[in-house]
Amino acid sequence: MLTLEATKSSKQDVKLGRVLLVEDEELIRETVALALSEEGYEVLIAEDGRSALNFASRTEDSNSLEFPDVDLIILDLMLPYVNGLDLCRLIRHQGSSVPILILSAKGSETDRVVGLEVGADDYLTKPFGMRELVARCRALLRRHRQAQPKTTGSSLRFQEIVLYPQECRVTVRNEEINLSPKEFRILELFMSHPRRVWSRDQLIEKVWGPDFMGDSKTVDVHIRWLREKMEVDPSRPEYLTTVRGFGYRFG
Ligand code: CA
Repeated sequence: MLTLEATKSSKQDVKLGRVLLVEDEELIRETVALALSEEGYEVLIAEDGRSALNFASRTEDSNSLEFPDVDLIILDLMLPYVNGLDLCRLIRHQGSSVPILILSAKGSETDRVVGLEVGADDYLTKPFGMRELVARCRALLRRHRQAQPKTTGSSLRFQEIVLYPQECRVTVRNEEINLSPKEFRILELFMSHPRRVWSRDQLIEKVWGPDFMGDSKTVDVHIRWLREKMEVDPSRPEYLTTVRGFGYRFG
């Protein structure tokens, strides 16, 4: 584990962000780390999937995994010990919304789709140019920062959706919508953790409580109702999206 500080009279005094690079091939690792540090990013390095987890910390309950000091993860797919897809799946399944860019020698459409389905945000096929990599990183970081909830006074805002926790009120495109208490609680949970993937079981625990006796279809039904109230086209949701095999995420 080592840190490559931005060297060479870095273009910016303030770091643009911290990137965790998980790559076992030394040449690629060094080239990417150098390119990013020259752009002003701080680069953290892990040579395999297992040591990438050294940068994570477990918070709240033991089921939650966060990367408090990492703004973006660049993840190779073919890695010793824990491969990139499994690592990505684990990170998302345990609730971290850190942006992930997958690097892979495999370029087939299937791999790309699988990568995005396990919760990666973008995908780059080797060989790639450093300029393209840097541009993708910049875009991902910008998108992620924009997705962070903006708390204005006592409201949570995401694009055209504003939730007022104290008043139990939600407006969508400047119009107030009527939500049931459960729908409101679900939306509040999503908006407080943008891009975090929630499994049905996690949503049940947080919204209905541990004593809930119904089944997880209840969650799907509530999500459908929320979509009908919020989305422009509920059949092609833009806010509340399905992460196949995992659950749902907002933003
Ligand atoms: Ca590799």
